[in-house]
Amino acid sequence: MSAVHGRGRCLCGAISFEVHAPMREVSFCHCGMCRRVHGYAGAYTTALVDSFVLHDAQGALRWYRSSEHVQRGFCGTCGTTLFWQHEGSKVRGVTAGSLDAPTGLRAGVHIHVADKGDWYELPDDGLERRQGSFS
Ligand SMILES: [Zn+2]
Ligand SMILES: [Zn+2]
Repeated sequence: MSAVHGRGRCLCGAISFEVHAPMREVSFCHCGMCRRVHGYAGAYTTALVDSFVLHDAQGALRWYRSSEHVQRGFCGTCGTTLFWQHEGSKVRGVTAGSLDAPTGLRAGVHIHVADKGDWYELPDDGLERRQGSFS
């Protein structure tokens, strides 16, 4: 397999992983589901599903089906949210916060901005803002 482009783990360390492919820029998702899961916008990068090597000796990884075709992966022990997976997609979303520094990533885009929480304003960071998802 190709070189490691990123490493990450959950808070308790039960789950760790390596990403053996380039990761895209970080998307900040302001949808209502991400807000509940993350407490604020969800920060996700993506990489090819096949490029993930997962270490989960205790079987801590749980998947929650948050919508018809999407599952969210998290640690059943510490609750850290790790993955976002659209059924049949070749790419997997991974939470930027679960990655070890230096990630080499850059902030890219705010998505689902129309659904953002009413208790904060979007940062004036010059990033693109989209009503919908990233394409
Ligand atoms: Zn954990
Ligand atoms: Zn979202």
